[in-house]
Parts: sequence; C-alpha cells; structure tokens
Amino acid sequence: MDRPPDTSEALARAHEHALSWLATLPDRPVPPAASVADVIAALGADLPEGPTDPVEVIDLLARAAEPGLTAMPSGRFFGFVIGGTHPAAMAADWLTSAWDQNSGMRTVTPAATAVDDIAEGWVLDLLGLPAGGAVGFVTGGTTANFTCLAAGRDAVLTRAGWDVGTRGLAGSPGVRVLAGAEGHGSVDLALRYLGLGAPELVPVDAQGRLEAEALRAILEEGDDGQPTMVVLQAGNIHSGAFDPFDEAITVAHEHGAWVHIDGAFGLFAGASPSFRHLVNGYEAADSWATDAHKTLNVPYDCGLAIVRDPAALRAAMSMHGDYLIQDAAGDPFEKVPELSRRGRAFTVWAVLRSLGRSGVAELVDRLAGHARAFAEGIAGIESAEVLNDVVFTQVCAAFGDDDRTRDVVRLMLEDGTAWTTGSVWHDRAVLRISVSNWSTTDADVERTLGALRAAVAAS
Ligand SMILES: *Cc1c(COP(=O)(O)O)cnc(C)c1O
Repeated sequence: MDRPPDTSEALARAHEHALSWLATLPDRPVPPAASVADVIAALGADLPEGPTDPVEVIDLLARAAEPGLTAMPSGRFFGFVIGGTHPAAMAADWLTSAWDQNSGMRTVTPAATAVDDIAEGWVLDLLGLPAGGAVGFVTGGTTANFTCLAAGRDAVLTRAGWDVGTRGLAGSPGVRVLAGAEGHGSVDLALRYLGLGAPELVPVDAQGRLEAEALRAILEEGDDGQPTMVVLQAGNIHSGAFDPFDEAITVAHEHGAWVHIDGAFGLFAGASPSFRHLVNGYEAADSWATDAHKTLNVPYDCGLAIVRDPAALRAAMSMHGDYLIQDAAGDPFEKVPELSRRGRAFTVWAVLRSLGRSGVAELVDRLAGHARAFAEGIAGIESAEVLNDVVFTQVCAAFGDDDRTRDVVRLMLEDGTAWTTGSVWHDRAVLRISVSNWSTTDADVERTLGALRAAVAAS
C-alpha cells in the first residue's frame, strides 16, 4: 500500500451514529433494552481471523451496541453521580482523539500544555483556590483522591524526616489518617493504594457532616506528633452535605495535619456565588479532589487533583527518564500518576471557555434548583418523605417502610422514564436522586415526578 488508508469514511460514519444516538436521548427509555449476553451475541464473540474494513466495524459496533446502551447522558438519568457532556466538551473530546497528543511533556506537545496551563489557572480562579496551586488532570475522583493523598503522605513523612520515596513505608513513623464516618469509599481505596490502611472515623451529624469538635477531641487525644492527614468532604453522596471546613481545617492545622478535601461533585459549589457559603474556608486546605466528569459535565474520564504546594505534588508524582524531554518549568506528567496520557485538559478548557464564569455558576445553580424541585414534588406525594436537607444536588427519599421504598425503586426502573437508584442511608432504604446533567430541564423533572407518583401509587 503506498498511501495510508483513508480514515474519513469511518469517522463520518462514527459522527452519523453519534448524532443519531444523541437524537434519541430526549425520548428513549433510560434503561438499556439489551443484556450483556444480547450484545455479545449481536457483536459475535469470535476473534476474526482476518481484517475487516473500519467502516464495517463501526457500523457493526453501533448497530450491535445500541440496544445495550444506557441513556446515561439523558436529562432524566439521576443515578449515582453521573454528569452529562456539554456540547463544547464533547466536540473537544472528539478532537482530542483525532489529535492524539501524548500530553505528558511540556515542550513536546505545546498546544496540550498551553491548554493544561490555562485550564489549571481557570479552575483555581473559578473555585477560589490558591493561585499558585497545581492541577493534575487525572482519570476521575478516585485517582484525584489518590494523587492528592500521595502528595500529602509524602509531605507529612518528609516533615517527619522520612523520605518515603527512597525508604518506603516499612519502618517509617506511619501516617495517622482521620476521615468523616460518611466519607466516600474511594478515599478508603486511595488509602489502600498508598499502604495506609483504613482511616480512623470521626463522628458525623444527622446530615453526614463531620463534627469539628469530635475531630478536635480525637486529634488531641492521640497526638504524639505523628504525621497526620485529615480527609474532609464537599458533597455527601446521600445528603449532598458539606463538612464544616473553616473549623475542621483550623483544628487539623493546629495539629500539623495535611488536610485533603474530597469534593468529587461538590467542590464546584465554590464556583457559584449562591452556593459558595457551603464551602466557606475550604481554600485553607492542602489538597482538593474533584471530577470534571460530574458537575463540570465533560465526558469520562476526567478528574482534577489540586494541590496547594506544586512541589509536593511533583515530589510524589514525577519520575526521570533519560529518553524523555523534560522541562524546568515542570511537565504535565509530573502532576499525575500516568506517564503517557490523553490531553484531558482540552475538554475542561472547552467547557470553561464556553460557559464562562457566569455559565458555570448558572449550571451549578440549575442543578441544585432541580434537586429542590424534586424535594418539593416528593413532599407532595402520599407517604413520601425527603430524608435529607436538600442543600445541593442530592435528594434521598423514603416511601413508608423499607420494602415499599425498594418497591418504588424497582417500579421506577421498570417504567424507564427516568433512572433513580436505591441505597441505604442511616439504616433506611432510600431512593436516591442526583442531579448533575446540564441538559436536565424543568420538564424532565416534572416527567420524573409523574413517573414517581405512578410508582408510589402502584407500590
Ligand atoms: C464519584 C465520587 C468519587 C469517585 O469519583 P470517580 O470519578 O467515580 O472515580 C469520590 N468521592 C465522591 C464524593 C464521589 O461522588
């Protein structure tokens, strides 16, 4: 072959399939129509012995996968905390794939680095976090927690005269880690990756907020000068509640602790003047983890690991290779666990460039406004009870006893108008609603409430 194969037809087909998928979102049932086995049967499980034209492959993939797709980008998907994809971010993501920049090294991919630098500054500015901080564009909240806590672990051990980078953890003074009793499981996972084991749990109040006085007592009780980290939370996945940052960070810093905040979806409260009070004082922490693929509405997978002291992040994440081209100004790969990496900052830049400061604030306000509308609508349903103070984007409701609540969760999924999930919060079965998609409309909320009323009536 003297010419490389033409890629334009496969891309044109992918574009067509993408647009027709997106066009189905307003009306298609949210749950998938096909099972894993159905999709495997439609795709064919045998590895082909020889080549197939890329156009044919894309057509097969689109056709066979379509029934097994969940309408996660639908304005009526309220499960987990999923986000949506803003059009500017999706289009930038397509370009990111076409450009295929391995974006780890500053001078090798200048466009990717420029966008990384700009987006870093914008994120810090928008959230009101320290201007000199570093932002690593990682794969998600879990990795952002890991990255920040790695920087914290190494920093507190270094202060204690122990270089974990060369000596490892065995024989070290160890690190004491304290976290609220309703922290996210990904924090425990990150601590496991870091060899630190499970955190000591600090009591929380009825909304799941860490009690600052309890934190003070626990810190005072056990303080023998051991290196310490305190993990706080912006946005409890059930209640949406925020820890009392001002008091908790002050207490933690009095004890020399590194303070990390897991704000996977809640950190962006800081970008809205109406919700900024929820994160009051959070800028005094040492590191912050958030997702761009949740509240900020870029496609998977994109998280932000934010660290006040760039040197601490670099100390934990950088490496050296004689074959690499490293720059004294610092390379993007020194802020993340991966060496080779996608140009994740392109989508973050695009959504911020498109929304602007007021647009991000308006997005946050709208998501929280929909959550409030859900709470009001649910309060008007027979036997329904909203269990949390709806301060942000999360609503937890119960419908009589646990069996009935679980029944309502099941009936909602069977109906398919919307996707809500079941969970257990404070020993009660709940139906959870999490609003995180820019495209959710008032009409989506109304339709979902209609489905919920019908499910409750049928339960
Ligand atoms: C989603 C979430 C995480 C984990 O983020 P991923 O992007 O799923 O890895 C961590 N903490 C909280 C509070 C979350 O909501």
